[in-house]
Amino acid sequence: MVAVPKTIAIVGANLAGGRAAQALRANGYEGGIRLIGAEAHPPYERPMLSKEVLLRHCEPERSFLMSEAGWEELGVDLHLGSPVTSLRAADAELELASGVRLSADKVLLATGGRVRKLEVPGAHLDGVAYLRTIEDSLRIREQLRPGAGVVVIGGGFIGAEVAASARLAGCEVTLLENGPTPLARILGIEIGAALTRVHREEGVTVLTETSVASIEGSSKVTHVITTTGQRIDAALVVVGIGIVPAVELAEQAGLAVDNGVVVDEYCRTSNPAIFAAGDVTNHPNQVLGERVRLEQWQNAQNQGAAAARAMIGKQEPFREVPWFWSDQYDLSVQMAGLPGGCDNIVYRGDLDSRSFSAFFLRDGVLRAAVAVNRPRDVKRTTPHIAAGAKVDAAQLRDESSDLRAVAA
Ligand code: NAP
Repeated sequence: MVAVPKTIAIVGANLAGGRAAQALRANGYEGGIRLIGAEAHPPYERPMLSKEVLLRHCEPERSFLMSEAGWEELGVDLHLGSPVTSLRAADAELELASGVRLSADKVLLATGGRVRKLEVPGAHLDGVAYLRTIEDSLRIREQLRPGAGVVVIGGGFIGAEVAASARLAGCEVTLLENGPTPLARILGIEIGAALTRVHREEGVTVLTETSVASIEGSSKVTHVITTTGQRIDAALVVVGIGIVPAVELAEQAGLAVDNGVVVDEYCRTSNPAIFAAGDVTNHPNQVLGERVRLEQWQNAQNQGAAAARAMIGKQEPFREVPWFWSDQYDLSVQMAGLPGGCDNIVYRGDLDSRSFSAFFLRDGVLRAAVAVNRPRDVKRTTPHIAAGAKVDAAQLRDESSDLRAVAA
């Protein structure tokens, strides 16, 4: 029997932290909730920052989980604009940068990640931007003017989505990717190449096996010099070279840390009073049978809620098929599961078109599905991934077969 804590402190007023606070109340918790965030905004979702907000389809407030008044109504004590600078594990006491000290019976770490910084000459210049927060998105948006030279460094999801948004805004876009093709690390080389072809068709110059050697300008960026010696005009440089998990507080508190805060299936860290959720956790994925650290919207939101339940004794193992989506131009990309370690990829449809799917198998078991403009293919095969089912490759490939019935 888990004692229900009188007060819970949530470090990280983001998607994981916000959903945790909401889940505490939804599960009948009546104690104190302190939700502490470094940013000035109430908890918000990040996906639209690289798409709809950049394209001026909406303002950032649309991404808020609730207004500040809504949090007050829920009885959540918001502490915004001041990060937690110390966590004393012995008595769960927190100190904020503002000097405020807070105590709690249990703590949830939803500290997320921070952008990996570029370290080349000129990286400090005005006009070199990262995209993680609302302010970052608004700053980039201001520069997205027709004809403006934009260099995007890093062909991950930030890079691909920002390149698409900048191109749709009429900018002259160059995308630099270290590896053989953008998006290869998550989606594999063939799908990465198919999506790269679309970026090129849309007018983006994609340079692979290429990074940035230096950035030029007096106070503001004017050019990017690539590692292959090219000199590219740039009014804006957007860097998307990954994030690093924000584990400093966990380390300070003496928690086990290994590529993130190590938690079990109930989001418990190595200290019984401290839990963790979201991008920062290294957690066991019960479906895939391996430990993972996921940087995905779905994981942040659902693991936050799972941690909240566990903190008040309503625990059940967190068990989900990882899932995410990305929109670029007219492409809607979805992926369920994780393709790493697979020995067979089965394609359905034509990779040269803008509509196909791919299934990743390990020893005949379906581990992941990726679909471009075919969301139904992912929906229909996710139950097979969840079940760890062996599947029939020929049926997966055959466009006329029903994907709900491909389990061998
Ligand atoms: P990311 O997905 O880790 O991708 C970073 C990319 O940059 C990799 O392809 C990496 O290649 C490349 N790279 C690294 N250093 C480089 C360099 N010096 N020059 C050129 N390329 C370099 O990270 P991200 O795109 O920055 O995104 C940050 C986080 O936000 C990720 O967790 C991402 O999943 C998440 N996000 C998700 C979505 C979505 O789900 N739709 C959208 C946006 C962002 P190597 O691997 O070869 O180093």
